[in-house]
Amino acid sequence: MRKQIVAGNWKMNNDLKQTQTLISELKNQVQTSMAEVMIAPTFTNLVGACDALQNSEIEVIAQNMHFAENGAYTGEVSATMLKSIGVNTVILGHSERRAYFNENDELLAKKVDAALAKNMRIIFCFGEELQDRNSGHHEAVVERQIKKALFHLSGEAWGSIVLAYEPVWAIGTGETASPDQAQDMHAFIRKTLAEEHGQDLANNVSILYGGSVKPANANEIFSKADVDGGLIGGAALNAEHFFDIVNAF
Ligand code: PEP
Repeated sequence: MRKQIVAGNWKMNNDLKQTQTLISELKNQVQTSMAEVMIAPTFTNLVGACDALQNSEIEVIAQNMHFAENGAYTGEVSATMLKSIGVNTVILGHSERRAYFNENDELLAKKVDAALAKNMRIIFCFGEELQDRNSGHHEAVVERQIKKALFHLSGEAWGSIVLAYEPVWAIGTGETASPDQAQDMHAFIRKTLAEEHGQDLANNVSILYGGSVKPANANEIFSKADVDGGLIGGAALNAEHFFDIVNAF
């Protein structure tokens, strides 16, 4: 069964005190929601966030991980380490990781396999750049990204994959894909998945939209048939805005 999900990606924001403050504000806002709610604080604040949100409806997730289990990878964190503190979901393939840390499809396939080997759920991000959309290549780019990183997976593994379509030109720019542009791309992604793995599997994969989602536009975007929720950056740093988006379902 595909789920509705709203996940907040805090990126490299919020020190310890700011994290504690935002989490207590989120706890005040939380109500029973139709959507699963997740937040992704920085690595340094994951343990504290897990403690503070124990027995809460909000899941704490990670923004990234390395593909190796341990070893000489200075500055990196593994799936085993995340699992050991109670983090069971990881964001992989965010466009900022692709752009600033040279993460490519091949590396992401290795990270996907490593996360799945440890029974982690993955929010897998991908999306085209502005020049791809302007030249009409947006579908081809997205198809390549998901095929190269994910299409080697078995049907069973897809139960642990959440897709997040995030057009790069809409991330942090204030420019959002129109609800119709989001729907068209999500329908294309589902069709591509169905061609490879069958309609049943495709119908059961949640596809989130990310890119300048705000309380003012969330409802219209989430009302589209193939949009199952959102990955939220900037607006996730404000508890009230974040829950206005969650409640847009
Ligand atoms: C993101 O970083 O995944 C994102 C969607 O950011 P924003 O909502 O700020 O565009």
